Amino acid sequence: MASSTSRINLDGNPINPLTICMIGAGGFIGSHLCEKIMAETNHKIFAIDVYNDKIKHLLEPQQNGATSQFVDRIQFYRINIKHDSRLENLIKMADLTINLAAICTPADYNTRPLDTIYSNFIDALPVVKYCSENNKRLIHFSTCEVYGKTIGSFLPKDHPLRLDPEFYLLKEDSSPCIFGSIEKQRWSYACAKQLIERLIYAEGAENGLEFTIVRPFNWIGPRMDFIPGIDGPSEGVPRVLACFSNNLLRGEPLKLVDGGQSQRTFVYIKDAIEAVHLMIENPGRANGHIFNVGNPNNEVTVKQLAEMMTEVYSKVSGEPALDVPTIDVSSKEFYGEGYDDSDKRIPDMTIINRQLGWNPKTSLWDLLESTLTYQHKTYAEAIKQAIAKPAAS
Ligand code: NAD
Ligand code: UDP
Repeated sequence: MASSTSRINLDGNPINPLTICMIGAGGFIGSHLCEKIMAETNHKIFAIDVYNDKIKHLLEPQQNGATSQFVDRIQFYRINIKHDSRLENLIKMADLTINLAAICTPADYNTRPLDTIYSNFIDALPVVKYCSENNKRLIHFSTCEVYGKTIGSFLPKDHPLRLDPEFYLLKEDSSPCIFGSIEKQRWSYACAKQLIERLIYAEGAENGLEFTIVRPFNWIGPRMDFIPGIDGPSEGVPRVLACFSNNLLRGEPLKLVDGGQSQRTFVYIKDAIEAVHLMIENPGRANGHIFNVGNPNNEVTVKQLAEMMTEVYSKVSGEPALDVPTIDVSSKEFYGEGYDDSDKRIPDMTIINRQLGWNPKTSLWDLLESTLTYQHKTYAEAIKQAIAKPAAS
């Protein structure tokens, strides 16, 4: 850990130790952010979540019986922010609140739209209110899904303008938010996130709230979601990295929803966490901004992602790839009624480059290699045992 006096921010000012109230600290992004803050800063964290499995290593005594070197700086609060009066006080006691709490798995958007809307809008309201009333800074996690579909997706398939960045590049300050019809309940998440963004922006404009909004573009890496039947429900459907990891670990073909033609850009979690770290320590450059955080160089179709993951997994596990590594499945069969998809997501990087000088570093191949090495080490044995066990009658 660096000493507080030796560290300076992008403007050459000393970085004073902060107390951070991190809501959703036990999730995928939260766990990496807690690790980074513990390892490289002197800041303290009130870590709020309903689970703490992914940050246990920071909270508990180490294996040799020694106390974790971080116990003085990170405290876990098992709090459901829907109904817990301790929340306001923790926000008041902190310098900065980071809100990551959300239902954010697409399989839930069309099957549990009410929970999705409540989680992403209603439950976030008190957090915004407490920050605004107590003059506390807020970093709120939104999503790239607020952009919805690209303008280009409405052009005929082979139209030349589809290749023009004006028709697909997603810019924080000028791209529209284009969602499907109401019965396409997939958009319940994006719409709730958009409304909370608008509310936070309005609190900034009318009441002076100091805020930063983060729009993650498919951050992936170790500890993302769960492997169904191992550390999550057997019937659960996580995001694509965990779905494909699960298929590879079980030796099953990877399922391509509607042919896997949608395009995504994937960024390595450790690169993305660097960006959040810069936002935390450079409030003068981050306040009042909405930031895309993604890697525009790592674009693939979902089908190409499946092919690359198959190749990488074979390399790291030493197991040969299946003869038929993928199968097509309809979105209705996979996600149910009301699913819809974002066609293409390339982040414009102008604002984050200008304000924070941040750029992602890790190629898709490299980030898949380290992530799938982790998945193999963590889950391969447990999957073997689960497969060997006869199904309970
Ligand atoms: P995650 O599901 O791993 O983490 C969310 C955490 O919030 C979980 O640990 C969950 O237990 C907690 N939480 C949810 N409701 C809560 C409540 N009522 N009270 C207390 N804790 C609660 O997801 P993640 O990938 O870490 O995402 C974090 C944030 O980033 C979310 O807001 C999500 O919408 C946003 N985001 C992430 C990505 C990505 O690429 N990972 C993409 C777009 C947006
Ligand atoms: N997907 C897929 N097979 C799976 C899981 C997801 O083809 O087993 C597709 C999904 O339809 C979407 C993309 O992969 O087009 C990314 O899905 P993810 O759940 O990661 O979230 P999104 O990027 O849509 O928010």
